[in-house]
Amino acid sequence: MYELVIVGAGPAGLYAATCAAMNELNAVVIESSSEFGGQLTLYKDKAVYDMPGFSKINAGDLVKSFYEQYKNYEKEVPILLNTQAIDVIHYDDFFEIKTNQGMLQTRTILLANGGGMFQPKRLEQGDDLEGIYYVIDNLKAFENKDVVVLGGGDSAVDWALTLEGIAKSITLIHRRDEFRAHQRNVDLLKQKHQVLTPYVVNEVKGEKKIEALVIEHTVTKELVEIKTDALLVFYGVNPVKNRVDVWNVRVKDNSIVVAQNMVTSREGIYAVGNSITYEGKLKMIVTALGEAATAIGAITKFLYPERTKAYKH
Ligand SMILES: Cc1cc2nc3c(=O)[nH]c(=O)nc-3n(C[C@H](O)[C@H](O)[C@H](O)COP(=O)(O)OP(=O)(O)OC[C@H]3O[C@@H](n4cnc5c(N)ncnc54)[C@H](O)[C@@H]3O)c2cc1C
Repeated sequence: MYELVIVGAGPAGLYAATCAAMNELNAVVIESSSEFGGQLTLYKDKAVYDMPGFSKINAGDLVKSFYEQYKNYEKEVPILLNTQAIDVIHYDDFFEIKTNQGMLQTRTILLANGGGMFQPKRLEQGDDLEGIYYVIDNLKAFENKDVVVLGGGDSAVDWALTLEGIAKSITLIHRRDEFRAHQRNVDLLKQKHQVLTPYVVNEVKGEKKIEALVIEHTVTKELVEIKTDALLVFYGVNPVKNRVDVWNVRVKDNSIVVAQNMVTSREGIYAVGNSITYEGKLKMIVTALGEAATAIGAITKFLYPERTKAYKH
């Protein structure tokens, strides 16, 4: 049984994990998508100007710096990626959270689930064939395989590089000549592997399993067929609104109502960040972080009423 389950690894959830570890809580974070960072992953290249301590920082770099800080505590408070909270059962003094990966029992819950979840954009056709991946959780599946990666962002380029030495061959296909990924990594990939631009997918071939991909040059319309055992699709994500009613707490205008210490209408369930409302609430990173610290302080007090000191430093 956990003392705390944090739902969501956006800025609020990541910082709450750091605070929970500092307070020595037996906690875990569950995150429905395959990466942490929440909404910031949608605008990685955008500059953020209102983050204390930084006159200007890209959202992608900000996520990295949150993670840098959290990394010191990842053993104490791990993040379970690809794990979506689906439902919750309320018992007298604990909760059971149903996730797509199984059940978790916990004494308290911190909802840091923001504006919603992010689901990978899918292929328009051939999506049901075996061998098409939107999320990677087992690198062994690509051992000695001919792998094609679709996309031009950091996820596509980073995963293509990660498969080096595992896959038999790696081909990256992107619809534009320009990438939205770190130039150094794009250069590395181009030196060692086949990178085809500007091409889009014309047809996915295969009976039950993917066998080949036909791609089309966006300018010349030339068609090229590429044999492949596995297709990794990194076309970005679509935001999906959260259902707030599953938590059985008071809501107003589709946001969770919290008291000053971030507790919801249900004892043991706290909420922070973009999913909450109170008089004067601002939906910003900095407020989400402050709320996370407040919530962890309140949760610690709830679990350990006798403790006098909030944080170990
Ligand atoms: C384009 C854009 C630009 C912005 N620019 C700025 C800016 O310059 N400065 C600023 O301060 N703010 C900015 N914001 C707002 C800022 O990004 C949000 O206020 C902040 O991300 C809120 O953090 P959060 O952790 O509460 O939620 P989110 O960032 O939304 O993270 C929530 C996380 O919870 C996960 N999740 C949701 N449901 C579940 C579930 N059921 N189970 C498991 N996990 C779940 C999601 O996948 C996500 O990772 C911007 C927002 C956008 C869209």
